[in-house]
Amino acid sequence: MSNAGLIAQVSTKQKVIAFTFDDGPNAAYTPQILDIFQQIGAKATFFTIGEQIEQHPDLLQEMFRQGHEIGNHTYTHPHLTELDEVDCRNEILRADKLITTILGLKPQVFRPPYFDINQEVYRLLSTEHYSAIGAVNTDSLDWEQPGVQHIVDTTKAAAQPGSILLFHDGYGDRSQTVEAVRQLVSDFTADGYKLVTVSKLLQHTSHYK
Ligand SMILES: [Zn+2]
Repeated sequence: MSNAGLIAQVSTKQKVIAFTFDDGPNAAYTPQILDIFQQIGAKATFFTIGEQIEQHPDLLQEMFRQGHEIGNHTYTHPHLTELDEVDCRNEILRADKLITTILGLKPQVFRPPYFDINQEVYRLLSTEHYSAIGAVNTDSLDWEQPGVQHIVDTTKAAAQPGSILLFHDGYGDRSQTVEAVRQLVSDFTADGYKLVTVSKLLQHTSHYK
């Protein structure tokens, strides 16, 4: 995965950071993530998949009700660059309309599955007023269950004020991610960081790649 051109970091000296979670809503793991953030009143961003939302619309509403940001992660999680323009547009807009219908608010942030993106996809996203979001800690490989300590250490090594961090609350066993996030949320907070949504982070000065 290249991450090229996606927003992974904003330029700020303030201790703000954005935790993001891909591939939910997930009935087993999303509620555990919500609990961690609710305990300290922090906010996260969830890049949700349309097919998952269809199964758990109430959970999506609860995530939003707790003040978290809901982002678009397509309808079926395809490699967007392998689709023609019509199918690519449908993947983005089907999820967009579903989220907008359930929450009454259009999502503003998008993460391409597998970070797979090209100029055509960027142009479509721009037309739909989306920011395309990456992450600085892709070495953590949390989706491959590399061990809690690996996820914690690689994330801390990559993170600085203004960073966007990637985790997964959907697909497969996410128990390592939950434990790593529990530690990271506690440690970053103790270090004086404020955990904010991606849209909030993007308001901090200009972003760079
Ligand atoms: Zn994904």
